[in-house]
Amino acid sequence: MRMTPRNVAGWGLGLATAWLVVAAVAVAVPAMKIEPMCPVSAEPCDPKVSLDFHGGRVWFCCKTCKQAFEADPSRSTPLAHQQMVLTRQFIQRACPLDGAGVAAGTTLDLGGVEVGFCSDACRTRINQAAIDDQTRLVFGNLGRGFAPVKPLAPKRLPPEKPAAGR
Ligand SMILES: [Zn+2]
Ligand SMILES: [Zn+2]
Repeated sequence: MRMTPRNVAGWGLGLATAWLVVAAVAVAVPAMKIEPMCPVSAEPCDPKVSLDFHGGRVWFCCKTCKQAFEADPSRSTPLAHQQMVLTRQFIQRACPLDGAGVAAGTTLDLGGVEVGFCSDACRTRINQAAIDDQTRLVFGNLGRGFAPVKPLAPKRLPPEKPAAGR
């Protein structure tokens, strides 16, 4: 496609719309600028390049990164999970280290995501870790501390029974 000025403007609109859609699942979260980064390259994402992953959606900067992720997601999985929380598809339910309840006044900012912990001990453990370890420990196992904002549709619905007497 030729990138005429109109096309460029259309892309920009698409970008805004895409992030608006994912932000719209968050109720009672104040409007804020969300800047998801590609979990493979840490570049800004292209809203047209995404993948369904672990009950949510992950965006990438380009198709090459998407293909690299599909070929071996393990290395970039913590950053993909972090992006899913940043884009408000998942919200925190518990301490990401042990699943215990989150205590007040224990938050840390991890890549734009405010994460709470059950105790000062868990917060200190993450606060003193290297950034790669922070991401891996907090977001590696997404289900321990985070839950999808919208319940996932069941894979198979029970068959509808015909109404009796018809
Ligand atoms: Zn990328
Ligand atoms: Zn904890």
